[in-house]
Amino acid sequence: MPGRSVKLPDSPSVRPKPACDKLVKWPVARQDSRIACKVRCMQIRPILALLAGLASPLISAAQAPLPIFDAHLHYSHDAWERLPPSAAVALLRQAGLKAAMVSSSSDDGTQMLYAAAPDLVLPVLRPYRTRGEIGSWMHDASVIPHLEARLAKYRYVAIGEYHVYGADADTPVVRRVVELARQHRLYLHSHSDADAIERQFRQDPQARILWAHAGFDRPERVREMLRKHPNLWCDLAFRSDHASGGQVDPAWREAFLEFPDRFLVGTDTFTPERWHYVVEHARWSREWLSSLPPAVAEQIAWKNGERLFGALRTALR
Ligand SMILES: [Zn+2]
Repeated sequence: MPGRSVKLPDSPSVRPKPACDKLVKWPVARQDSRIACKVRCMQIRPILALLAGLASPLISAAQAPLPIFDAHLHYSHDAWERLPPSAAVALLRQAGLKAAMVSSSSDDGTQMLYAAAPDLVLPVLRPYRTRGEIGSWMHDASVIPHLEARLAKYRYVAIGEYHVYGADADTPVVRRVVELARQHRLYLHSHSDADAIERQFRQDPQARILWAHAGFDRPERVREMLRKHPNLWCDLAFRSDHASGGQVDPAWREAFLEFPDRFLVGTDTFTPERWHYVVEHARWSREWLSSLPPAVAEQIAWKNGERLFGALRTALR
């Protein structure tokens, strides 16, 4: 609950004192000060313990919320028609995001959002000009001049998020996308099965791939892929199997502890309605992240994103 301040009681009867010998300053007329000290301590200690127990969750809730680097957002045409850039940026800020990786169908949405919040938005170039190209783009040669024209005009941190599975990752269009990423030193944001990830790494063993949704694969399989490919990172967007009730699932916990530097969170606003989930998603993420060791939680919440993509922020301008 950001911004909530906590007031502790400040009456003399419960004011904390560091040691008993300080209590002799309290009015203890006609009593031996040492006896008074013991009596008062016996009275006060349970009260202090009670107050400490009540106050500690409130104090931690009052601390600044964990920053969130959201690695998976879209601001596509049907979103910007309903939610103007200023309102979308307001939601990102309300969520307490430190950064937002945004790709859109078409890229105009990303550019509008970047213009509205260059301190927050990290542009990602999507191959799709409209929403309907998810299943056909890898066979559509016109995608390439579109990408080349955008790359000549604007700056990005990645190409994606695109959808490609299995052998489709070896079409000439996808091969050219992998080449463009290498030429422009960009990451690839690939919504794929493990097979398509392997195929892209075969095309360019130096490629750097952010695996969208961790491929919706099992944590054991995700760990195998991370062991095999040092240039593979995973976003956890639009999956909920890794945590419930504020606790990380045990198998996922092992994955996060083995690879604390390879996971990022993301909302995935694939429909306009999901923009209103950005704030709740950040809250939910903070909740389950708090069940991990704090250093690991920070890495997954924002430090991995900043390390990988945040450094590119200055290169964008
Ligand atoms: Zn997506």
